[in-house]
Amino acid sequence: MTTRPAPRRLDVQAFALAQGHLEGDDPLERYERLVDAAADHAVDGLVTWDARGASTRDALGGTQCWLHLKVQTRLALTCQRCLGRLLWPVDVERAFRFVADEATAEEQDETSEEDVLVLTADLDLQSLIEDEVLLSLPYIPRHADCPEQPTLSATDEDFDRPAPKPHPFAALASLKLPRDKSSG
Ligand SMILES: [Zn+2]
Repeated sequence: MTTRPAPRRLDVQAFALAQGHLEGDDPLERYERLVDAAADHAVDGLVTWDARGASTRDALGGTQCWLHLKVQTRLALTCQRCLGRLLWPVDVERAFRFVADEATAEEQDETSEEDVLVLTADLDLQSLIEDEVLLSLPYIPRHADCPEQPTLSATDEDFDRPAPKPHPFAALASLKLPRDKSSG
């Protein structure tokens, strides 16, 4: 693996036409917004990324520039149930297609499976990597199984006791059934 950091200024068109390939393992602390996302937790680890350029022909014979991006890392988040540390694996794979201007990008991004961005000679790849990792994070991070029970006021006996079943007609009473007038 290279140790080259993700470029802050990438000429997208040149990269796409040359079918360029860049990859790296960046220290997580280089990504300020990811460090912020980890809040109080110690930040270590790597952001492993892989960027490939490609070009295709559109229906009119014009050249389309593409960037294929893969990012893997692990972020320590705070579980919103037990407030413990939650090591969240990130594995993102995205395709970006580049168009000439903002209006075209906005119009096509709505209807395209890939992300549509404006072609630029100085794409901030590190920032794009950061964006994609942040977008992949859960809105409310939670362990599937918290390592410790959250503190509840209930006693252990209450945990063992099955929850009382609601009266069978209680659920029916809350349903407003439409009157059946179709019989006849
Ligand atoms: Zn938890």
